Amino acid sequence: MRNATSILLLCLLPFACGGDSRMVPTDATDGSKQDPQPAQARPGFDATYIANAGFLMTGPEGVVLFDSLYTTPSTEWRAPTPQTLDALTMPRKPFDQVTVVVVTHNHPDHYDADTVATHMRNNTKAHLITTAQIGEDMALNIADFASFADRVHAQTPNPNESIELEVAGIAFKLMLFTHGKKSTSENLGVQFTLGGVKILHVGDSQALSEDIAAYALPGEGIDVAFFPFWMLMREWWQTTIREAIAPGTIVAMHLNPRTVVQKHIQDRGGWDAVFASWQEQFPTCVIIEEPASSVHFD
Ligand SMILES: [Zn+2]
Ligand SMILES: [Zn+2]
Repeated sequence: MRNATSILLLCLLPFACGGDSRMVPTDATDGSKQDPQPAQARPGFDATYIANAGFLMTGPEGVVLFDSLYTTPSTEWRAPTPQTLDALTMPRKPFDQVTVVVVTHNHPDHYDADTVATHMRNNTKAHLITTAQIGEDMALNIADFASFADRVHAQTPNPNESIELEVAGIAFKLMLFTHGKKSTSENLGVQFTLGGVKILHVGDSQALSEDIAAYALPGEGIDVAFFPFWMLMREWWQTTIREAIAPGTIVAMHLNPRTVVQKHIQDRGGWDAVFASWQEQFPTCVIIEEPASSVHFD
């Protein structure tokens, strides 16, 4: 497995402003020609936080947008601002560069059919990777679904099985990470590589080690894995992360707004104390709360 990924920069990107192009590499078409550095050097990718489990991931092979196309205003969960939603659906920079949209599951803090459809209509180079459930939902509820259906890859793996597919020049592996025994929502774990960095986003996973053992993820050498906050809070999921996934670097996601008062967070001394405990448990843990903040991983 590779060493832990280093964080090289932290910057802010104004989504509402059309003039900023820092997110888009000036020559992102062929990393092999422009990189005279030692063989181990990797161009890496930028992860820009949108809201909740939503991230924009920009690498030499393309731009992948996770779980950002939803509108449900919520006091419980963070959601894209109206300005960001406008930029997401027009789409404007940096979202006009998106080549792959990924929606991990059909909950309203990750997915809204109309918002996804608007992006797919307006960004004709974008492909959608999502669950069979969402594919069926969109086919039923979006009148012109057929107009972009050839760019929709809606598949759900069976338990303990994975689906490998190449979309817009990027190889993806889709896995089933259960949303929990009480949920009927199919939830994807999505593995792919950008700029030589192997990435895993697990959606709203509540999977335990035994649920994902068949994927043998420690042998995959995951460099950067995105986990919802509950997987960092509970001992059994911390064990799952360490023993059944073993990523180099962790990004915490699905963080509640600070305005939401939760007894279990207060009992632990508040969010700052909780964050400190995560970083004690996982020294490489990256916590991003500020929308449009961008971190480079290589
Ligand atoms: Zn969910
Ligand atoms: Zn969620």
